[in-house]
Formats: sequence, structure tokens, C-alpha cells
Amino acid sequence: MNYVPAPDLLSGRTILVTGAGDGIGRTAALEFSRHGATVVLLGRTTSKLESVYDEIADAGYSLPGIAPMDLATATVDEMVELANVIASTYSQLDGLLHNAALLGQLIPFEAYDMNEWMRVQHVNANAPALLTRNLLPVMKQSPDASLAFTTSSVGTRPRAYWGAYAVSKHSLEGLAMLLADELENTSNIRTNIINPGATRTPMRASAYPNEDPATVKTPEELMPLYLYLMGPDSKGENGQLFDTSWLDN
Ligand code: NDP
Repeated sequence: MNYVPAPDLLSGRTILVTGAGDGIGRTAALEFSRHGATVVLLGRTTSKLESVYDEIADAGYSLPGIAPMDLATATVDEMVELANVIASTYSQLDGLLHNAALLGQLIPFEAYDMNEWMRVQHVNANAPALLTRNLLPVMKQSPDASLAFTTSSVGTRPRAYWGAYAVSKHSLEGLAMLLADELENTSNIRTNIINPGATRTPMRASAYPNEDPATVKTPEELMPLYLYLMGPDSKGENGQLFDTSWLDN
């Protein structure tokens, strides 16, 4: 994508990023901050969130919020509490990037551990629905809010041996399309889907252990799209799947 974001593109905007401690989410949180946003860092490993916090603080960007939360076990009450804290701290939420995900097992369906299946489904599909449901009121306080869900090529078209990861991403795309349709004429919230394609992260390394990471694009290369979607320039985009897998190879 040839989009060149303005340096202060996200000034005055508050954006929550899930899975902000590592991989694409970490890079997105740093880039959003660099472009003026106040970010809320949600993730399950507090030390990783603190490291992102320190990097943002050391750079002199707007100080982020930290929301330690394991999406596999977080209760509805904890999500309500998070939404209340965001509403009282920031008064509006202008962006929500659903990025956290679990890979789960890459094996035949018949061999899949069904407890793991349910955990992956929960983190990748149910938790984003629960979070979105609770954060919609504070997103509606924004004149121009952006809701983005992260899928995968195997989510758009599930493939053999990708198990709960593929099925949960397929479900997540369904949720995104439902919300895009439902919110388009009833709110100022736009809803879109990102497929980052092969990207150099811990998840990619775990899915493709024999791959040379140097052959895979970096999270930084994705950032023009992520900035575009979270900023005002994407107003009017709704119900779209932004597939960057064409950048691969
Ligand atoms: P990583 O595994 O590198 O990072 C995922 C982040 O999500 C980590 O910070 C992780 O926390 C967090 N996370 C995982 N489970 C939970 C949980 N239960 N509660 C809270 N946070 C959690 O993944 P990527 O950066 O590679 O992927 C980001 C998104 O992009 C995902 O949705 C993925 O499916 C998608 N994607 C990635 C591709 C790739 O090639 N990298 C290709 C296609 C799609 P912790 O660090 O503590 O483990």
C-alpha cells in the first residue's frame, strides 16, 4: 500500500490494541503512539506490556494505558470493568484493533485436543465478540470510530490441518461482516477486516519452524494499512477485507 500517513494522523485518538505485547500488535501499538494516539495495551503477559509502555514513554509519546487480561479466562464482569475504566479515563474510544490470537494445534481434525479447540475458539472468536459488545457504548462516543478484526488466509478459506485457528478466524470474519452491516447506518463506527499475510512474528515462527524468518515481511511493512484503517482517512470504508498477503514473496 502506498499510503503515507501524516505524522500526527492519530492525534487526539484513543485506540485499544489486543495482543499488544508481541508481534504485529506490539508494532501497531508503537506506530499508533508515534502518530499521536493514546493507546491502551491489552495482553496476557504484563511484563511484555510494560516493555511496550516503557518504549512509548521513553520516546515521549502520549502515555499508554495497560490492561493485563488473558482473553482465554477473562470474565464478562472483567470486560465490563475494563469498558468502565476506559469510559471514565478517556470518555471515548476511537479505535479497537482485535489482534490477539492463539495458533493452537496444526494437526488433523480427528486428532485435535477438544479442550484446546475450545480455548482457541474462545480467544480468537468469542473474546473479540465479548470485548466489542462491552466497548461499543464508549466507541459510540467517538464521532469517527474504527473497529478492525484480524483474520488469516486460512480463516477466509479454511484449509486442512489448521484446526480451530482456521474455524475461529472464519467465525471472526462472520462477526465483522455482521457488525459492518449492523453499525453502518446506526453509528459512526466502521468495521473492517485485515489479513496481514505471512509476517515475521513469534506466531509465524511457531507455524513454520523451518522457515528462514528473513524471507518473511516484517510487521513494520504492514503499518501503512493499520494506520490508514485507524485514522480519519479510512472514513467511509466499511465491511472490507484488506488482504495484504499479496505483499508476500
Ligand atoms: P503473535 O503470537 O506473535 O502475537 C500475538 C499476541 O497476542 C501476543 O502478544 C500474545 O500474548 C497475545 N495473546 C495470545 N493469546 C492471548 C490471550 N489469551 N489473551 C491476551 N492476549 C493474548 O501473533 P502475530 O503477531 O503473528 O499475529 C497477530 C494477528 O495476526 C493474529 O490475529 C494472527 O492470527 C494474525 N495473523 C498473523 C500472521 C503472521 O504471519 N504472523 C498471518 C495471518 C494472520 P503473549 O505475547 O503473552 O503470548
